[in-house]
Amino acid sequence: MTVTTRPIGLFDMAAQQALIRADIDRRIASVLDSGRFVNGPEVGELEAALAGFSGAAHAVGVSSGTDALQIAMMAEGIGRGDAVFLPAFTYTATAEVPLVLGATPIFVDVEEASFNIDLADLRRRIALVEAEGRLRPRAVIGVDLFGRPADWPAIEALCAEKGMFALDDAAQAFGASLGNKRLGRWAGATALSFYPTKTLGCYGDGGALLTEDADRAALYRQLRTHGEGGSRYEVLRTGMNGRLDTLQAAILLSKMTLFESELAARRAIAARYAEGLGTAVGVPSEMAGAEHAWGIYSILLKDAAERDRVRAALSAETISSGIYYPKPLHHQPAYAPGHAASLAAPPALPVAESLCDRILALPMHPYLRMGDVDRIAEAVVAAVGR
Ligand SMILES: *Cc1c(COP(=O)(O)O)cnc(C)c1O
Repeated sequence: MTVTTRPIGLFDMAAQQALIRADIDRRIASVLDSGRFVNGPEVGELEAALAGFSGAAHAVGVSSGTDALQIAMMAEGIGRGDAVFLPAFTYTATAEVPLVLGATPIFVDVEEASFNIDLADLRRRIALVEAEGRLRPRAVIGVDLFGRPADWPAIEALCAEKGMFALDDAAQAFGASLGNKRLGRWAGATALSFYPTKTLGCYGDGGALLTEDADRAALYRQLRTHGEGGSRYEVLRTGMNGRLDTLQAAILLSKMTLFESELAARRAIAARYAEGLGTAVGVPSEMAGAEHAWGIYSILLKDAAERDRVRAALSAETISSGIYYPKPLHHQPAYAPGHAASLAAPPALPVAESLCDRILALPMHPYLRMGDVDRIAEAVVAAVGR
């Protein structure tokens, strides 16, 4: 039998590009004509657009999502002797940044229902660090995994109670909101990534920090430019080269014109998936009073064997799938020794470990056709045989 169906990718950047190619070409040409490749006017325009969209008072363009996290932590002076709490089920960058700054990441388990940080386990691990007395609990990095907002009211309340900094890793979640506030207005600062496959992606690396706090925003601007003060070559603090390229800002300005409608398309696709998948598999849920950004659409299977079966069935129909993430961070070779050595970190993180065996991402992008969503859902339901 020959396969006659069109392959369906996890992401599709070509469909979006076809809609705005002429506008992108025009904006790129304008940067080339101006020659202002670093700190060109497009960077400021994009910052205004990001602040306008999110409602955050300040937006600062930076070189990547990872650098956004790093600049936010440098601004708080986080380093040696500090404990930074973060979920064990996330992308590696969330844990890498505290380690690069000399701080100690403390991995926290996640909830099966939301894939996000488990507040009860977070409280427990903060108490263990306090009791041990070796590290100062300094910050919580909440991740809005796959685009679903973490429980920010609870994380903020806990951080306020403990005098800790709340940092939102919203790399997968730009466009999501919680209780009538978009991400960017929660936490002390919000880090965005514009990696090409994120909800708002550029054509290379880029990121931004959003904050309500003017002093922090000013510090972020200094830190992204080597800690320079009001005049060039006056260095006030140790910073980094963390600027956003003018070209990437120009591309993002073009993509912003589609962003709102793309979010709506993602929402409609997620609803169609939920309808088609029914109760055959675990489908991601919406939190009451929140809007998911649907950056990644991950379902939950019974076990690893069932996931293998579903993947094989999808692959036979030329449908891509992905695993975010196959390994929890506390099992990564680079992080496992530190985790095991910390008394404050009981080694087992059972939910994170179980999710890594059972999670499966289905194709999700704003230009996915409803007929394809139905085809994918049917293939999944047939493969699980329930
Ligand atoms: C993508 C991502 C990052 C890092 O963003 P980059 O722009 O690739 O540096 C950080 N955290 C999470 C959760 C991510 O998904």
